[in-house]
Amino acid sequence: MKVNQAELVISAVSKKQYPTEPLPEIALAGRSNVGKSSFINKIIQRKALARTSSKPGKTQTLNFYKINDAYYFVDVPGYGYAKVSKKEREKWGKMMEEYFAERENLNMAVLIIDIRHDPTNDDVMMYDFLKHFDLPVTVIATKLDKIKRGQRAKHLQRIIQVLELEEEDTVIPFSAETGEGKDDAWKAIYAHLNN
Ligand code: GDP
Repeated sequence: MKVNQAELVISAVSKKQYPTEPLPEIALAGRSNVGKSSFINKIIQRKALARTSSKPGKTQTLNFYKINDAYYFVDVPGYGYAKVSKKEREKWGKMMEEYFAERENLNMAVLIIDIRHDPTNDDVMMYDFLKHFDLPVTVIATKLDKIKRGQRAKHLQRIIQVLELEEEDTVIPFSAETGEGKDDAWKAIYAHLNN
């Protein structure tokens, strides 16, 4: 997939700011610091369109990136930071609920997981949340460059097991460092774009 155009259209804090153009959307979710921005930047071939190393406490927004004038990547705020206050967490929940419950053009979700470790309880909750909205989920197991080749299959199997990955969903090993897995990620995304 060649990305000719990618722009941040809006960082929305509420529903009334969402773009109204009826383009298909792909939501991207993941634990804070898991490598979500790096994934987005790598697959759309931009150095730093998505902001990396987001700090806790910064404004939580839904970032709508318009790609090739044809669809949106929606970067949803990360989860799992221990230091976030209860109030912040509630705000996060409300924002997620508001977006996922009503977005008609939302075709699929991408869930970014760290391939080195078992999915956390928060990862499992996020996966279940996405499935609750009947979304096909592509799991991106990132930081592939940080494990030995011989360990890959075992780690992928653990992710499938711990998430209790459903049949329609896939897990794709990926590295933002080497670009490995990029084509497979695009294939998975592309398969859902026109559904
Ligand atoms: P975000 O908070 O989920 O958007 O995470 P970032 O994209 O900012 O990444 C967090 C940290 O992990 C940064 O220091 C990245 O350089 C690093 N990182 C992200 N993806 C990879 C990867 O595939 N391999 C390696 N080695 N580091 C990565």
